[in-house]
Amino acid sequence: MTTNTSIQDNLSEKDQYAVFGNPISHSKSPQIHTSFAEQTQQLLSYEAILLPEDGFEAGAKEFFAQGSKGANVTVPFKLDALVFANQLTPIAKRAGAVNTLAVQEDGSLLGHNTDGEGLVTDLTANLGFNLQGAKVLLVGAGGAARGVVEPLLTAGVSQLIIANRTPERAANLITIFQRLIAPHASTHFSAATWQDLASLSAQGERFDLVINATSSSLSDDLPPLPEALFAPNALAYDLMYAQEPTKFLRWAKEVGAAQQADGLGMLVEQAAASFALWRGVKPATAKILAQLKQT
Ligand code: NDP
Repeated sequence: MTTNTSIQDNLSEKDQYAVFGNPISHSKSPQIHTSFAEQTQQLLSYEAILLPEDGFEAGAKEFFAQGSKGANVTVPFKLDALVFANQLTPIAKRAGAVNTLAVQEDGSLLGHNTDGEGLVTDLTANLGFNLQGAKVLLVGAGGAARGVVEPLLTAGVSQLIIANRTPERAANLITIFQRLIAPHASTHFSAATWQDLASLSAQGERFDLVINATSSSLSDDLPPLPEALFAPNALAYDLMYAQEPTKFLRWAKEVGAAQQADGLGMLVEQAAASFALWRGVKPATAKILAQLKQT
């Protein structure tokens, strides 16, 4: 009886967090945040919540009305969360998407985006990649690509070229970030079509880092990239993660990329940044990343 009561007390003392998405059953976020909570001895619960595609606002309202403290937001709700938040961090505003909601002391809801920080931390801290002065090709211009442009530019890359199937979307990202953060004058920041990439490759242009931020790997498809693309020691990085190497990573290996990595590390690092925002303590990530790689 006493034990039951104290378990009940503990449960009711737990701060509630969740990830909203559709689909969501595949999400690794509950496992990651539960591991962070154990490691940092934070009393919290974290669940995955499936919402109907037109049901973000109603679902989020209900969740926060229960006194919940924060949430992650994944496909297809990152734009809904941008609108739902009471205030936005500058990074979320510029990314045009929110993946983290955090209840503030005055009860208002802050919207932030940790995807870009997650990518840069994975590249630099986990993979040991030096972004300073690197020549980077970002393939894709959807929500995820937009979220990683600013941290790549501020990490000091010397060149960031964005190529996308629909060229206008890549050009649009250049316009947005030129205006918003005015990259350093020595940074080469431009859009390229598939044809431009073929010409650059023929002229001998090579990249230290090629990031696939398209969802093409989901359909086992490949953007039409030239084979001569990778500089010596280059890293090919696919934002998507899967149990087996994605088609992009298999192709990159075949055409000479020295290293390949998928987006599992980014997932864990964006989660750690969300956790730090909520709880004021940054968890270590190596153990859970190693565990997830084995499952
Ligand atoms: P969006 O739907 O916003 O954008 C999709 C992008 O992929 C667009 O640039 C689109 O081009 C392009 N694209 C789609 N299919 C093809 C194809 N067959 N050939 C070439 N280009 C294609 O998706 P997101 O930006 O949200 O997500 C992109 C990827 O990033 C997904 O795989 C997602 O899982 C992953 N991701 C991983 C995260 C992590 O933590 N590891 C975090 C967030 C996302 P067009 O503009 O022409 O339609």
